[in-house]
Amino acid sequence: MYMTDRGDMRFSLRRTATAAVLSAYIAIGVHSSTTYAQQASAPAAAGEEAHLVLLGTSGGRTSWRGVQAAGISSAVVVNGQVYLVDFGAGWLRRFFQAGLGAPPPARGLESLRAAFITHLHADHVVDYPSLVLFGASDGLSERKDPVLVFGPGARGKLPPVSGSTTGVSAVVAPEGPTPGTVAMTEAMYRAFATDINDNILDSRKPNPHSRIKVQDIAIPAQAGIDPNTDPAPEMAPFPVYQDENVRVTATLVSHPPVYPSFAFRFDTPHGSVVFSGDTSPSRNLVRLAQGADVLVHEVIDTAWVNALYPKPRNAAQEAKAHHLVHAHTAVEDVGAVAQAAKVKVLVLSHLAPADNTAARWTRAKEGFEGELIVGSDLQWIPLRAKSRSNSEK
Ligand SMILES: [Zn+2]
Ligand SMILES: [Zn+2]
Repeated sequence: MYMTDRGDMRFSLRRTATAAVLSAYIAIGVHSSTTYAQQASAPAAAGEEAHLVLLGTSGGRTSWRGVQAAGISSAVVVNGQVYLVDFGAGWLRRFFQAGLGAPPPARGLESLRAAFITHLHADHVVDYPSLVLFGASDGLSERKDPVLVFGPGARGKLPPVSGSTTGVSAVVAPEGPTPGTVAMTEAMYRAFATDINDNILDSRKPNPHSRIKVQDIAIPAQAGIDPNTDPAPEMAPFPVYQDENVRVTATLVSHPPVYPSFAFRFDTPHGSVVFSGDTSPSRNLVRLAQGADVLVHEVIDTAWVNALYPKPRNAAQEAKAHHLVHAHTAVEDVGAVAQAAKVKVLVLSHLAPADNTAARWTRAKEGFEGELIVGSDLQWIPLRAKSRSNSEK
Protein backbone atom coordinates (compact mmCIF):
# COMPACT_ATOMS: atom_id res chain seq x y z
CA MET A 1 0.00 0.00 0.00
CA TYR A 2 1.25 3.47 -0.84
CA MET A 3 0.42 6.91 0.39
CA THR A 4 0.10 9.73 -2.10
CA ASP A 5 1.00 13.28 -1.23
CA ARG A 6 -2.72 13.79 -0.68
CA GLY A 7 -2.63 11.16 2.02
CA ASP A 8 -5.04 8.86 0.24
CA MET A 9 -4.14 5.21 0.18
CA ARG A 10 -3.32 4.00 -3.27
CA PHE A 11 -3.22 0.39 -4.18
CA SER A 12 -1.58 -2.07 -6.45
CA LEU A 13 -4.25 -3.96 -8.29
CA ARG A 14 -4.12 -7.63 -7.58
CA ARG A 15 -3.13 -10.11 -10.24
CA THR A 16 -5.73 -12.79 -9.88
CA ALA A 17 -4.52 -14.63 -12.95
CA THR A 18 -7.84 -15.73 -14.30
CA ALA A 19 -7.36 -14.03 -17.62
CA ALA A 20 -8.08 -17.16 -19.60
CA VAL A 21 -11.44 -17.63 -17.93
CA LEU A 22 -12.28 -13.96 -18.28
CA SER A 23 -11.26 -13.98 -21.93
CA ALA A 24 -13.63 -16.84 -22.59
CA TYR A 25 -16.39 -14.76 -21.04
CA ILE A 26 -15.61 -11.76 -23.16
CA ALA A 27 -15.31 -13.79 -26.34
CA ILE A 28 -18.82 -15.07 -25.77
CA GLY A 29 -19.87 -11.49 -25.29
CA VAL A 30 -23.09 -12.28 -23.51
CA HIS A 31 -23.91 -13.04 -19.94
CA SER A 32 -24.04 -16.63 -18.87
CA SER A 33 -25.60 -18.08 -15.77
CA THR A 34 -22.19 -18.93 -14.28
CA THR A 35 -21.28 -16.80 -11.29
CA TYR A 36 -18.88 -13.95 -11.84
CA ALA A 37 -17.30 -14.21 -8.45
CA GLN A 38 -14.07 -15.85 -9.57
CA GLN A 39 -13.62 -13.95 -12.80
CA ALA A 40 -12.40 -10.60 -11.54
CA SER A 41 -9.06 -9.99 -13.16
CA ALA A 42 -7.08 -6.81 -12.78
CA PRO A 43 -4.53 -6.59 -15.58
CA ALA A 44 -0.89 -6.48 -14.59
CA ALA A 45 0.47 -3.03 -13.85
CA ALA A 46 -3.03 -1.58 -14.01
CA GLY A 47 -2.07 0.83 -11.27
CA GLU A 48 0.02 2.90 -13.67
CA GLU A 49 -2.44 3.03 -16.53
CA ALA A 50 -6.02 4.04 -17.17
CA HIS A 51 -8.77 1.49 -17.54
CA LEU A 52 -12.47 1.34 -18.06
CA VAL A 53 -14.02 -1.32 -15.81
CA LEU A 54 -17.59 -2.45 -16.40
CA LEU A 55 -19.11 -3.30 -13.02
CA GLY A 56 -22.73 -3.85 -14.07
CA THR A 57 -24.04 -3.88 -17.62
CA SER A 58 -27.76 -4.51 -17.24
CA GLY A 59 -30.23 -1.86 -18.38
CA GLY A 60 -33.32 -1.30 -16.29
CA ARG A 61 -34.39 -3.56 -13.47
CA THR A 62 -32.08 -6.45 -12.70
CA SER A 63 -35.02 -8.39 -11.33
CA TRP A 64 -36.29 -9.12 -14.82
CA ARG A 65 -36.17 -12.82 -15.58
CA GLY A 66 -33.36 -13.33 -13.09
CA VAL A 67 -30.57 -11.88 -15.23
CA GLN A 68 -27.11 -12.41 -13.80
CA ALA A 69 -25.66 -9.04 -14.81
CA ALA A 70 -25.56 -6.35 -12.13
CA GLY A 71 -27.27 -3.00 -12.59
CA ILE A 72 -25.59 -0.26 -14.57
CA SER A 73 -22.34 0.93 -13.04
CA SER A 74 -18.88 1.56 -14.47
CA ALA A 75 -15.51 2.73 -13.24
CA VAL A 76 -12.57 4.63 -14.64
CA VAL A 77 -9.32 3.67 -12.94
CA VAL A 78 -6.40 6.06 -13.27
CA ASN A 79 -3.14 5.66 -11.38
CA GLY A 80 -4.87 3.48 -8.81
CA GLN A 81 -7.71 5.92 -8.16
CA VAL A 82 -11.29 4.93 -8.97
CA TYR A 83 -13.95 7.17 -10.49
CA LEU A 84 -17.41 5.63 -10.47
CA VAL A 85 -20.27 6.27 -12.89
CA ASP A 86 -23.72 5.35 -11.54
CA PHE A 87 -24.81 3.19 -8.62
CA GLY A 88 -26.83 0.39 -10.23
CA ALA A 89 -27.92 -2.70 -8.29
CA GLY A 90 -24.91 -4.60 -6.99
CA TRP A 91 -22.19 -2.03 -7.77
CA LEU A 92 -20.44 -2.40 -4.40
CA ARG A 93 -20.18 -6.18 -4.68
CA ARG A 94 -18.87 -5.82 -8.23
CA PHE A 95 -16.40 -3.12 -7.07
CA PHE A 96 -14.66 -5.70 -4.90
CA GLN A 97 -15.10 -8.58 -7.34
CA ALA A 98 -13.42 -6.49 -10.03
CA GLY A 99 -10.39 -6.02 -7.80
CA LEU A 100 -10.93 -2.27 -7.39
CA GLY A 101 -10.75 -2.31 -3.62
CA ALA A 102 -7.57 -1.26 -1.88
CA PRO A 103 -5.99 -4.46 -0.48
CA PRO A 104 -5.89 -5.39 3.24
CA PRO A 105 -5.30 -4.00 5.77
CA ALA A 106 -7.22 -1.28 3.93
CA ARG A 107 -11.00 -1.71 3.88
CA GLY A 108 -11.42 -1.18 0.13
CA LEU A 109 -13.17 2.07 -0.68
CA GLU A 110 -10.02 4.08 0.10
CA SER A 111 -9.42 3.88 -3.65
CA LEU A 112 -12.71 5.56 -4.55
CA ARG A 113 -12.03 9.20 -5.37
CA ALA A 114 -15.28 10.46 -6.89
CA ALA A 115 -18.60 9.30 -8.31
CA PHE A 116 -20.81 10.71 -11.03
CA ILE A 117 -24.54 10.05 -11.45
CA THR A 118 -25.91 10.36 -15.00
CA HIS A 119 -29.56 10.73 -13.97
CA LEU A 120 -31.92 9.81 -11.20
CA HIS A 121 -33.77 6.86 -12.69
CA ALA A 122 -33.84 4.10 -10.10
CA ASP A 123 -31.70 1.66 -12.11
CA HIS A 124 -28.80 4.16 -11.85
CA VAL A 125 -29.11 5.04 -8.15
CA VAL A 126 -30.85 2.14 -6.45
CA ASP A 127 -27.64 1.12 -4.65
CA TYR A 128 -26.43 4.64 -3.86
CA PRO A 129 -27.45 3.94 -0.24
CA SER A 130 -24.68 1.30 -0.17
CA LEU A 131 -22.12 4.09 -0.30
CA VAL A 132 -23.81 6.05 2.49
CA LEU A 133 -24.60 3.10 4.74
CA PHE A 134 -21.59 0.81 4.23
CA GLY A 135 -18.98 3.34 3.16
CA ALA A 136 -17.67 4.13 6.62
CA SER A 137 -17.04 0.43 7.29
CA ASP A 138 -15.60 -0.20 3.84
CA GLY A 139 -12.87 2.40 3.88
CA LEU A 140 -14.34 5.90 3.73
CA SER A 141 -13.37 6.39 7.37
CA GLU A 142 -9.73 5.82 6.46
CA ARG A 143 -9.67 8.36 3.64
CA LYS A 144 -8.14 11.76 4.33
CA ASP A 145 -10.62 13.52 2.08
CA PRO A 146 -14.31 12.78 1.60
CA VAL A 147 -15.51 11.00 -1.52
CA LEU A 148 -17.00 13.45 -3.99
CA VAL A 149 -20.40 12.69 -5.50
CA PHE A 150 -21.67 14.70 -8.47
CA GLY A 151 -25.24 14.24 -9.65
CA PRO A 152 -28.22 15.92 -11.27
CA GLY A 153 -29.93 18.83 -9.57
CA ALA A 154 -33.68 19.13 -9.10
CA ARG A 155 -35.89 18.70 -12.17
CA GLY A 156 -37.85 21.72 -11.05
CA LYS A 157 -41.30 20.63 -12.16
CA LEU A 158 -43.20 17.41 -12.64
CA PRO A 159 -43.45 15.84 -16.09
CA PRO A 160 -46.87 15.85 -17.75
CA VAL A 161 -49.11 12.82 -17.51
CA SER A 162 -48.58 10.42 -20.37
CA GLY A 163 -51.88 9.99 -22.20
CA SER A 164 -55.25 10.35 -20.47
CA THR A 165 -55.32 11.88 -16.97
CA THR A 166 -57.93 9.45 -15.73
CA GLY A 167 -56.74 6.69 -13.46
CA VAL A 168 -53.41 8.36 -12.61
CA SER A 169 -52.13 7.84 -9.07
CA ALA A 170 -51.38 10.77 -6.75
CA VAL A 171 -47.69 11.74 -6.75
CA VAL A 172 -45.50 11.15 -3.70
CA ALA A 173 -43.90 14.00 -1.75
CA PRO A 174 -46.05 16.69 -3.40
CA GLU A 175 -44.27 19.37 -1.35
CA GLY A 176 -41.01 18.56 -3.16
CA PRO A 177 -41.73 16.06 -5.93
CA THR A 178 -38.52 16.34 -8.02
CA PRO A 179 -35.51 16.42 -5.68
CA GLY A 180 -31.96 16.50 -7.00
CA THR A 181 -28.95 14.57 -5.73
CA VAL A 182 -28.19 16.72 -2.67
CA ALA A 183 -31.80 16.66 -1.49
CA MET A 184 -32.04 12.93 -2.21
CA THR A 185 -28.94 12.30 -0.12
CA GLU A 186 -30.20 14.40 2.78
CA ALA A 187 -33.49 12.49 2.70
CA MET A 188 -31.49 9.27 2.78
CA TYR A 189 -29.72 10.31 5.98
CA ARG A 190 -33.12 10.88 7.58
CA ALA A 191 -34.60 7.67 6.21
CA PHE A 192 -31.72 5.55 7.54
CA ALA A 193 -31.07 7.58 10.68
CA THR A 194 -31.69 4.62 13.02
CA ASP A 195 -28.81 2.64 11.54
CA ILE A 196 -26.52 5.62 10.97
CA ASN A 197 -26.94 6.89 14.54
CA ASP A 198 -26.48 3.39 15.92
CA ASN A 199 -23.13 3.25 14.11
CA ILE A 200 -22.10 6.73 15.24
CA LEU A 201 -22.88 6.07 18.91
CA ASP A 202 -22.28 2.35 19.38
CA SER A 203 -19.49 1.71 16.85
CA ARG A 204 -18.04 5.24 17.01
CA LYS A 205 -18.09 5.56 13.25
CA PRO A 206 -17.94 8.99 11.63
CA ASN A 207 -21.04 10.79 10.51
CA PRO A 208 -21.35 9.94 6.79
CA HIS A 209 -21.86 13.65 6.11
CA SER A 210 -18.17 14.10 6.81
CA ARG A 211 -17.10 11.28 4.47
CA ILE A 212 -19.22 12.04 1.39
CA LYS A 213 -19.37 15.45 -0.23
CA VAL A 214 -22.34 15.73 -2.57
CA GLN A 215 -22.83 18.33 -5.24
CA ASP A 216 -25.62 19.00 -7.73
CA ILE A 217 -24.03 19.52 -11.15
CA ALA A 218 -24.41 23.14 -12.25
CA ILE A 219 -25.60 23.46 -15.84
CA PRO A 220 -24.37 26.58 -17.62
CA ALA A 221 -27.10 29.18 -18.00
CA GLN A 222 -28.60 28.70 -21.43
CA ALA A 223 -31.79 29.81 -23.06
CA GLY A 224 -34.31 27.24 -24.13
CA ILE A 225 -33.95 24.54 -21.50
CA ASP A 226 -37.39 23.38 -20.46
CA PRO A 227 -37.62 19.97 -18.76
CA ASN A 228 -40.93 19.22 -20.49
CA THR A 229 -40.39 20.58 -24.00
CA ASP A 230 -36.64 20.71 -24.68
CA PRO A 231 -34.61 19.01 -21.94
CA ALA A 232 -31.42 18.70 -24.01
CA PRO A 233 -30.96 21.67 -26.36
CA GLU A 234 -27.77 21.73 -28.40
CA MET A 235 -24.95 22.89 -26.21
CA ALA A 236 -21.19 22.84 -25.78
CA PRO A 237 -19.75 20.36 -23.26
CA PHE A 238 -19.13 21.95 -19.87
CA PRO A 239 -16.65 21.15 -17.07
CA VAL A 240 -17.72 19.18 -13.98
CA TYR A 241 -14.53 18.13 -12.20
CA GLN A 242 -10.76 18.01 -12.57
CA ASP A 243 -7.81 16.62 -10.63
CA GLU A 244 -4.34 15.33 -11.48
CA ASN A 245 -5.81 12.15 -13.06
CA VAL A 246 -8.95 13.15 -14.90
CA ARG A 247 -10.80 16.04 -16.46
CA VAL A 248 -14.54 15.36 -16.47
CA THR A 249 -16.88 17.20 -18.81
CA ALA A 250 -20.60 16.73 -19.36
CA THR A 251 -23.47 17.48 -21.66
CA LEU A 252 -27.24 17.11 -21.54
CA VAL A 253 -28.61 14.11 -23.41
CA SER A 254 -32.11 13.27 -24.51
CA HIS A 255 -33.86 10.88 -22.13
CA PRO A 256 -37.36 12.31 -21.81
CA PRO A 257 -39.05 12.93 -19.51
CA VAL A 258 -35.93 12.82 -17.32
CA TYR A 259 -34.18 16.14 -16.75
CA PRO A 260 -31.34 16.62 -16.29
CA SER A 261 -29.80 13.54 -17.89
CA PHE A 262 -26.04 13.68 -18.40
CA ALA A 263 -23.35 12.06 -20.49
CA PHE A 264 -19.83 12.28 -19.07
CA ARG A 265 -16.42 12.38 -20.71
CA PHE A 266 -13.24 11.46 -18.83
CA ASP A 267 -9.96 12.66 -20.31
CA THR A 268 -6.94 11.06 -18.67
CA PRO A 269 -3.22 11.23 -19.46
CA HIS A 270 -3.56 7.72 -20.95
CA GLY A 271 -6.75 7.97 -23.00
CA SER A 272 -10.35 9.11 -22.96
CA VAL A 273 -13.71 7.44 -22.31
CA VAL A 274 -17.25 8.74 -22.67
CA PHE A 275 -20.39 7.43 -20.98
CA SER A 276 -23.64 8.09 -22.83
CA GLY A 277 -25.89 7.70 -19.81
CA ASP A 278 -29.43 6.91 -20.96
CA THR A 279 -30.27 8.68 -24.19
CA SER A 280 -31.82 8.47 -27.60
CA PRO A 281 -29.30 9.23 -30.39
CA SER A 282 -27.93 12.58 -29.25
CA ARG A 283 -26.06 15.30 -31.12
CA ASN A 284 -24.80 16.64 -27.81
CA LEU A 285 -23.31 13.23 -27.08
CA VAL A 286 -21.65 13.05 -30.50
CA ARG A 287 -20.08 16.44 -29.81
CA LEU A 288 -18.93 15.41 -26.33
CA ALA A 289 -17.48 12.11 -27.57
CA GLN A 290 -15.70 13.54 -30.61
CA GLY A 291 -12.46 11.63 -31.14
CA ALA A 292 -12.62 9.75 -27.84
CA ASP A 293 -10.80 6.45 -27.49
CA VAL A 294 -13.78 4.61 -25.99
CA LEU A 295 -17.52 5.31 -26.03
CA VAL A 296 -19.66 3.36 -23.57
CA HIS A 297 -23.15 3.61 -25.00
CA GLU A 298 -26.50 2.35 -23.81
CA VAL A 299 -28.50 0.16 -26.17
CA ILE A 300 -31.94 -1.38 -26.47
CA ASP A 301 -33.35 -4.12 -28.67
CA THR A 302 -36.69 -2.80 -29.92
CA ALA A 303 -37.78 -6.31 -30.88
CA TRP A 304 -37.63 -7.07 -27.17
CA VAL A 305 -39.89 -4.09 -26.41
CA ASN A 306 -42.45 -5.32 -28.93
CA ALA A 307 -42.34 -8.80 -27.43
CA LEU A 308 -42.66 -7.35 -23.93
CA TYR A 309 -45.64 -5.15 -24.77
CA PRO A 310 -47.54 -6.87 -27.62
CA LYS A 311 -50.36 -4.93 -29.23
CA PRO A 312 -53.07 -4.10 -28.40
CA ARG A 313 -51.70 -2.20 -25.37
CA ASN A 314 -53.51 -0.47 -22.55
CA ALA A 315 -52.51 3.10 -21.61
CA ALA A 316 -49.87 2.04 -19.10
CA GLN A 317 -48.33 -0.48 -21.49
CA GLU A 318 -48.31 2.06 -24.32
CA ALA A 319 -46.61 4.66 -22.09
CA LYS A 320 -43.94 2.20 -21.02
CA ALA A 321 -43.28 0.95 -24.55
CA HIS A 322 -43.11 4.54 -25.83
CA HIS A 323 -40.54 5.46 -23.17
CA LEU A 324 -38.37 2.45 -23.93
CA VAL A 325 -38.28 3.13 -27.66
CA HIS A 326 -38.00 6.92 -27.63
CA ALA A 327 -35.79 7.54 -24.63
CA HIS A 328 -33.11 4.98 -25.55
CA THR A 329 -30.94 4.06 -28.53
CA ALA A 330 -31.83 1.09 -30.72
CA VAL A 331 -29.08 -1.36 -31.56
CA GLU A 332 -29.49 -0.51 -35.24
CA ASP A 333 -28.72 3.17 -34.51
CA VAL A 334 -25.84 3.06 -32.04
CA GLY A 335 -23.15 2.29 -34.64
CA ALA A 336 -23.95 5.51 -36.51
CA VAL A 337 -23.58 7.48 -33.27
CA ALA A 338 -20.14 5.98 -32.65
CA GLN A 339 -19.14 6.62 -36.27
CA ALA A 340 -20.27 10.27 -36.11
CA ALA A 341 -18.24 10.72 -32.94
CA LYS A 342 -15.21 9.10 -34.61
CA VAL A 343 -14.45 6.99 -31.55
CA LYS A 344 -12.04 4.07 -31.78
CA VAL A 345 -13.98 1.61 -29.63
CA LEU A 346 -17.70 1.29 -28.99
CA VAL A 347 -18.61 -0.58 -25.81
CA LEU A 348 -22.24 -1.57 -25.42
CA SER A 349 -23.55 -1.44 -21.86
CA HIS A 350 -26.89 -0.81 -20.12
CA LEU A 351 -28.02 -3.73 -22.25
CA ALA A 352 -31.79 -4.00 -22.54
CA PRO A 353 -32.44 -6.82 -22.23
CA ALA A 354 -29.30 -8.01 -20.45
CA ASP A 355 -29.93 -11.63 -21.40
CA ASN A 356 -30.11 -11.01 -25.14
CA THR A 357 -28.14 -13.17 -27.56
CA ALA A 358 -24.80 -11.92 -28.84
CA ALA A 359 -26.12 -11.95 -32.40
CA ARG A 360 -28.73 -9.33 -31.52
CA TRP A 361 -26.06 -6.92 -30.27
CA THR A 362 -23.48 -7.39 -33.00
CA ARG A 363 -25.84 -5.51 -35.31
CA ALA A 364 -24.41 -2.43 -33.60
CA LYS A 365 -21.43 -2.86 -35.90
CA GLU A 366 -23.54 -1.65 -38.84
CA GLY A 367 -22.19 1.71 -39.99
CA PHE A 368 -19.28 1.73 -37.52
CA GLU A 369 -15.70 1.24 -38.68
CA GLY A 370 -14.14 0.92 -35.22
CA GLU A 371 -13.99 -1.93 -32.74
CA LEU A 372 -17.21 -3.17 -31.11
CA ILE A 373 -17.23 -4.69 -27.65
CA VAL A 374 -20.43 -6.13 -26.20
CA GLY A 375 -19.92 -5.31 -22.55
CA SER A 376 -20.10 -7.80 -19.74
CA ASP A 377 -19.76 -7.41 -15.98
CA LEU A 378 -16.21 -7.22 -14.57
CA GLN A 379 -14.62 -6.53 -17.95
CA TRP A 380 -11.42 -4.44 -17.94
CA ILE A 381 -10.73 -2.35 -21.03
CA PRO A 382 -7.52 -0.32 -21.25
CA LEU A 383 -7.68 3.30 -22.36
CA ARG A 384 -5.02 4.15 -24.85
CA ALA A 385 -4.63 5.57 -28.32
CA LYS A 386 -5.63 2.22 -29.82
CA SER A 387 -7.71 0.66 -27.08
CA ARG A 388 -8.00 -3.09 -27.01
CA SER A 389 -9.97 -5.20 -24.61
CA ASN A 390 -8.04 -7.59 -22.43
CA SER A 391 -9.66 -10.44 -24.35
CA GLU A 392 -7.38 -9.77 -27.26
CA LYS A 393 -4.04 -10.20 -25.59
ZN1 LIG B 1 -31.27 3.24 -17.18
ZN1 LIG C 1 -32.97 6.15 -17.46
